[in-house]
Amino acid sequence: MSEKKSKGQALYDELAYEKKNYFEVASKSERKKMFAYAEGYKAFLDDAKTEREACAAAVKMAEENGFTEYRFGDALAAGDKKYFVNRGKSVVVFRVGSKDLEKHGMRIIASHIDAPRIDVKQNPLYEEAGMCFLKTHYYGGIKKYQWTAIPLALHGVVVLKDGTKVELRVGEDPKDPVFYIDDLLPHLGQEQMAGNAGKIIEGEQLNVVVGGMPYPDEEVGKKIKLTVLHYLNEKYGMCEEDFLSAELSAVPAYPARDVGFDRALIGAYGHDDRVCAYPALTAVLNGETEHTVLAMLVDKEEIGSEGTTGMQCKIYEDLMEEICIAMGASFRKVRFASKCLSSDVTAAYDPNFASVYERMNSAMLSCGTCMSKFTGARGKSGSNDANAEFVGEVRKMFEKEGVVWQTAELGKVDIGGGGTVAKYLANLNIDTVDLGVPVISMHAPWELISKADLYSNYMAFLAFMK
Ligand code: MN
Ligand code: MN
Repeated sequence: MSEKKSKGQALYDELAYEKKNYFEVASKSERKKMFAYAEGYKAFLDDAKTEREACAAAVKMAEENGFTEYRFGDALAAGDKKYFVNRGKSVVVFRVGSKDLEKHGMRIIASHIDAPRIDVKQNPLYEEAGMCFLKTHYYGGIKKYQWTAIPLALHGVVVLKDGTKVELRVGEDPKDPVFYIDDLLPHLGQEQMAGNAGKIIEGEQLNVVVGGMPYPDEEVGKKIKLTVLHYLNEKYGMCEEDFLSAELSAVPAYPARDVGFDRALIGAYGHDDRVCAYPALTAVLNGETEHTVLAMLVDKEEIGSEGTTGMQCKIYEDLMEEICIAMGASFRKVRFASKCLSSDVTAAYDPNFASVYERMNSAMLSCGTCMSKFTGARGKSGSNDANAEFVGEVRKMFEKEGVVWQTAELGKVDIGGGGTVAKYLANLNIDTVDLGVPVISMHAPWELISKADLYSNYMAFLAFMK
């Protein structure tokens, strides 16, 4: 190779755009920071496998950083550090800035803390053929066959007849038992394997094994069921009827782990969307800013952002309005001046399934957090297609702070697509664009991300808040 670039090559380098691998361009100390940041993230993942647990973990971290609880009607002043909990399942962590709200608006980062999983039905318990099972109804878009023959943990709450709420978390401690959804052995699987992958395991076959020991009493018909009921009664004070008012979820029982000899990647359950929620939270907890900044960690994104804890609920709008009232600002003016990053994951280009991606406009692993100007499917349908002007503004913020980032859409034009919470914020007249971490095997029980992209996402949020 010659020492000096040719004139044409120099011109090409100046004019052409190419993505950069963040690991490659990061300094040694920056790479060290990426790895250190990933440790905190992994601990958060292991702590927070459901939206309730993620909400509680976020509150704990906020309190450790001097944030206090806010309720509608509380007085607010510049410098206040607050969190607002919605029904224990979503939380908004915010700081009131010194900048004029009507002029500068709010800087909002919206992400979600629910993840695909296997929810227990309301009348779930039965015994058959030496086993006791819980019937389930899966939550979010999953490939059902991926959830069989892996260790599962049960998380959730049971509201007992007298109204007491009992928390349940079994299968995370190495000493705990785990739970299991069975699959057919290959020896008898000929017919199953010839079928459509969406049907090789059907929804009604996702039954979770929770017991196998008969209760020692000849008189009893359902002996194993009684053993399980007896255990649940001794341990949690519940009887079978209490499942009616329970919210129990089976999630993968494995912890987050480094992947690869070089430990560049992280495998874990629920990267979607905690890989955005954690950076949003830590940016608002630690970032330097004079703006009023909000990290919204919401629920129910995986099933359409509905309900009282999903992004479509008025409560988030009400909170913003309450902040405006407390600060003596017009909500209408503040919304118009506000900016939002809707932070959800995107699909990383997967060379083993290259045919569904358009390489030039796919997110490449380790090339930084990924902006999607639009999401949606087949003709941008259902998408918040951000204005070029706003994209330009965010691009400038990132440029100024040296954020390594990329842009992409999800898959080939005619193949798939997806949407997230961006449009609900945009509907409030808030400029919004999607930004999030590329994920391999999204919605699988164990997903894969790059430490570089996780850290880039955090850096991007810090830059956006400044
Ligand atoms: Mn998501
Ligand atoms: Mn998702």
